This record gives sequence, C-alpha cells and structure tokens, in this order.
Amino acid sequence: APLLANRYLITKRIGSGNFGTAFLVTDKKEINEKDKMKVLKQITVGPLDPGETVDAMQEAKLLAQMRHKNIVQFHQSFLDGHFFCIIIEYCEGGDLECKLKDQKKLNQLIPEAQVIKWIKQLLKALEYMHRKRILHRDLKTRNIFLKDNEIKVGDFGISRILLGASDKASTFVGTPYYMSPEVLKHEQYDEKCDIWSLGCVLYEICCLEHAFEGTTLMSVMMKIVSDHTPQLNKSYSRALNNILSRMLDRNPENRHTAAAILQHVMFEKPNGAIP
Ligand code: ADP
Ligand code: MG
Repeated sequence: APLLANRYLITKRIGSGNFGTAFLVTDKKEINEKDKMKVLKQITVGPLDPGETVDAMQEAKLLAQMRHKNIVQFHQSFLDGHFFCIIIEYCEGGDLECKLKDQKKLNQLIPEAQVIKWIKQLLKALEYMHRKRILHRDLKTRNIFLKDNEIKVGDFGISRILLGASDKASTFVGTPYYMSPEVLKHEQYDEKCDIWSLGCVLYEICCLEHAFEGTTLMSVMMKIVSDHTPQLNKSYSRALNNILSRMLDRNPENRHTAAAILQHVMFEKPNGAIP
C-alpha cells in the first residue's frame, strides 16, 4: 500500500461519496493500537491556485481546533498531488443510514428514549459548531456515526473547506432529501439550514424512511417547498412531534436554533432520559 505524507498507511477503502473516497489508514505515529486507526478522505480537487490552497488549508486548521465528543475529530489535512487529503477520527460503529436500514429490515422501530438520546447529542454537536459560526450544510444519516452508541457527526465544515476550492464544490448541492427550502430556492441561508436537515434526520430515525420522498429529484424538491409538514408515527409522543415541527418550519426565521430546542424539558435529564 502507498505511503501518504510518510505517516499514513492505507489499510482498506471504506467507500466514496459526493466529495471523494474514504480509506481506513494506520497512523504510524500513534502508539496505542486503537488510536492508530484513522480515516483518510481523499477529495478530488482540480488544480488549485495558490490562493485557494491557502484558504482551504486555513479552513482545515480551524476545523482541527474544534473539539466535541459528538463531532468526528478532524486531525490533519495536506495536499497530495491533485488530492486534498484530510485525516479524521475513525468511527467503527458505522453510519446511521446503515443502522436505520437494518432496523427497517427487522421491522423494528427505535424506542423514543433512544431517539431523544440521539437527537440531544445531535443538537449538542450543532449548537457547538453554530456557536463557532460553522455550518454543516450536508447533515444526513450517512454523515452521522455511532461510536459506542454515541453520536458522532462527520463532515462538519467540509463544505466550507471546499467552497471555492474546486468547481465541484461550487456546484455542489448536497443530498436533496435533507435540503432546506431556502437552500433549494437559492435564498440566503444560515445555521437554520442544518436544523431543517436535523428535522429530516429525526423523521427518518422514527419512521425509517425519508421525510421528503419522491421518485425523481424534482418530486423530492416539490415536496420540500410544498406546505405539507410530515408527522411522526403514532408510537411517538406529541412532544417529539412538536420538536419535529419546530425543526421543519419552512420559514428559517421561525425555525428554532439548536440552543433553543435544547431548552425543552425533553432534553433536561442527563442523556435525555424521559422523566
Ligand atoms: P458521503 O458523506 O457523501 O457518504 P464520505 O466520503 O463522507 O461520503 O463517506 C463514504 C463512506 O465512508 C460512507 O459509507 C461512510 O459511512 C464512510 N465513512 C466516512 N467517514 C467515516 C469515518 N470517520 N469513520 C467510518 N466510516 C466513515
Ligand atoms: Mg460523509
């Protein structure tokens, strides 16, 4: 296997997504066996001009300073030929998309107490990054990982690194299912777009299907901008449904912030246990 930055040894390819390819790597500098396992994300960027490289590097440095137990730790970034590489924490528990698919196959709903625990951790991750004025912009079940049954949000701020760093990034529209109406309509947007996406994730955790589903990109987009607000399955409480409506408010000004939603009694108890 090839050596990258003389430090990371590629073990295997994990998968690929919108931006590039993810690999499991061994960090030779770590002593502890578990710490050695990290993820390398190789992002294809066109030839970068020096200014763009500096911008991307500065963004990456900023992200490396972020620390939160519910956020996938960003370790390092470097350029390797035409690849912009980032090294991040490895989450061996897999992503939430897979978890929910398994759950659906078993025909088993996620208990409300578990939903609340996860949503609380997701809100904490968003609140932390939003306080630092960093948006996710691509929050989806595939970017949410489980590590020892704790939520870890991945790819936070990555869209910002890539902003202007490649043609792909400027035309990048994220995954349509989780896209907020204001982003779809190319209106101004802020951290509230992540809250919309979180609402879509909450719905998906409870209903095991997309909040806005359709057979074509256009039909998904039409549902997002229509005035229909999805409701949770009867097995979930009214309180949880209310939280969902606050997240899926089409007007970003009325949509609640992560900090505000965390004030709800539902999230008061440690780990979000129902009183
Ligand atoms: P996307 O977010 O568009 O799916 P990624 O490159 O982020 O694309 O992810 C590709 C695959 O690698 C996904 O299946 C994801 O579950 C996996 N993956 C990404 N980051 C990690 C990580 N830190 N730990 C474990 N698996 C990861
Ligand atoms: Mg991802």
